[in-house]
Amino acid sequence: MKVGVLGAGQLGRMLAIAGYPLNHQFGFSGNSDDEPSALLGHMFIDNDSVKSLVDFADVITYESENTDIEIVKEISKIIPVYPSEKSLFTTQHRGREKALFEQLDIPCAPYQMVNSEQDLIDAVGVIGLPAILKTATEGYDGKGQFLMRDESQISEAWASMNGVESILEGFVNFKRELSLIAVRDKDNNYKYYSLVENTHHNSILRLTIAPAQAIDAEVQKTAERYMQTLLDEMNHIGVLTIELFETENGLVVNEMAPRVHNSGHWSIEGANTSQFENHIRAITGQPLGDTTPTHQFSAMVNIIGKIGKIDTVLSMANAHLHLYDKAERINRKLGHINITANSEQELNDSIQQLQEFLPEG
Ligand code: AMP
Repeated sequence: MKVGVLGAGQLGRMLAIAGYPLNHQFGFSGNSDDEPSALLGHMFIDNDSVKSLVDFADVITYESENTDIEIVKEISKIIPVYPSEKSLFTTQHRGREKALFEQLDIPCAPYQMVNSEQDLIDAVGVIGLPAILKTATEGYDGKGQFLMRDESQISEAWASMNGVESILEGFVNFKRELSLIAVRDKDNNYKYYSLVENTHHNSILRLTIAPAQAIDAEVQKTAERYMQTLLDEMNHIGVLTIELFETENGLVVNEMAPRVHNSGHWSIEGANTSQFENHIRAITGQPLGDTTPTHQFSAMVNIIGKIGKIDTVLSMANAHLHLYDKAERINRKLGHINITANSEQELNDSIQQLQEFLPEG
């Protein structure tokens, strides 16, 4: 089939790399022909790029929850777009996302919507401090967030939102950050990956360990139950990611993304079928692939800002380099390194060898 991707970043690039062996073709609508997906398929960058993409494609998917919903609505009248409009509509607004979690009895942080400084004063009164003020839409990698510890910060916090609709979330005291990735097809089949453990630095994901260690089977099951409820409710076809906090009192869902996710990149070498291939299989109507890990452990180390000494990576038997053809820039995701390991010792030694790619400590 011809798969059209709205967007042309690294996720589109990795979707195409996974989809070519299945005999699919790819097209992308983007802003310029030097984006990460550009050489991986037909690149539409003119003023009519979306129309050209629709003319090219049999099915459309998108790379980001910030995709214009009006465009998706229009395209859906002509050809199928997956994941569903409801998935996109819900996940592009933190308030709608939280409302859905509440409706489905999925634990999440307490929250209040905020549209003015007075709203924020009221919200702090309800939720208490510490709390995190976030823009309702378009935040990623910690952008558009303000951690409030003290009431004296109310004016500063509201000013930092630049007047846009925001959400105040109670601060969750978590032990670890986890995520769950799953895929649903058109016939209500589901496949789940193992819960993974994510380490962030300055709100940017730096390291994923898969599977997360010391996870009780019940915790995995609970996360899968939340996931299935969400997949069904949104009639979601393709990959869905939920980010969770592991707390003393169980799992608390932070947010979700209607797409393949950075915390699932390990699955390229670390699972029998990667998240990218499973997304493509789901949206093209092919049977979903097995998600069992190929090794006892995998890890994913992001390459951020500078490419660094990649010869170190290439000399390691169990490391796999994935670069996205992006220019170096501070805090930019340029690529990642996947590690596969058959013991905890091997995993830790390999991560140690990649210290230069990780922030200190
Ligand atoms: P987000 O963009 O919502 O994923 O937030 C970025 C990071 O901020 C998360 O990965 C957490 O480390 C932290 N964070 C976000 N929301 C909360 C919360 N309600 N309580 C504690 N930490 C949070």
